Amino acid sequence: MIKIRKKMNTHQKKYKHNSPFSLSVKRSKSGLGVFANEPIRKKKFILEYSGELIPNQEADRRGGRYLFKINSRWTVDGRNRDNLSRYINHSCKPNCEVETRGKKIIISSIKNICTGEELVYDYGKEYFDEYIKLSGCRCKRCLNH
Ligand SMILES: [Zn+2]
Repeated sequence: MIKIRKKMNTHQKKYKHNSPFSLSVKRSKSGLGVFANEPIRKKKFILEYSGELIPNQEADRRGGRYLFKINSRWTVDGRNRDNLSRYINHSCKPNCEVETRGKKIIISSIKNICTGEELVYDYGKEYFDEYIKLSGCRCKRCLNH
């Protein structure tokens, strides 16, 4: 008997993550994005931005857009694919926010989020100026202007 192998659809791939909510990674207007598979109420913990904790000096040496500086000494390098939150896109009109608690980086909702809605947060001015400004912001708000 021949078994038919199902092709793995990369966009439906299950990602390991530490969220209490069901989330998926799918194509969005700005590449891949993270979407809610269920409603999420305002002010809920969604995900931790996980990665390797490295000294800022090492972060400066490495470079890259997945570096998240947490204080004057430490940075989290979230380039690892296990870090689901690296797929969360920037928006100028976000429904999530990101904050540091000690050495943890926490992403939580600041609005009620519907099923199927993309999770987005504001990456901040420094990132925006370095990586987004030149090619133009592709968030919902900027595209509708
Ligand atoms: Zn924008």
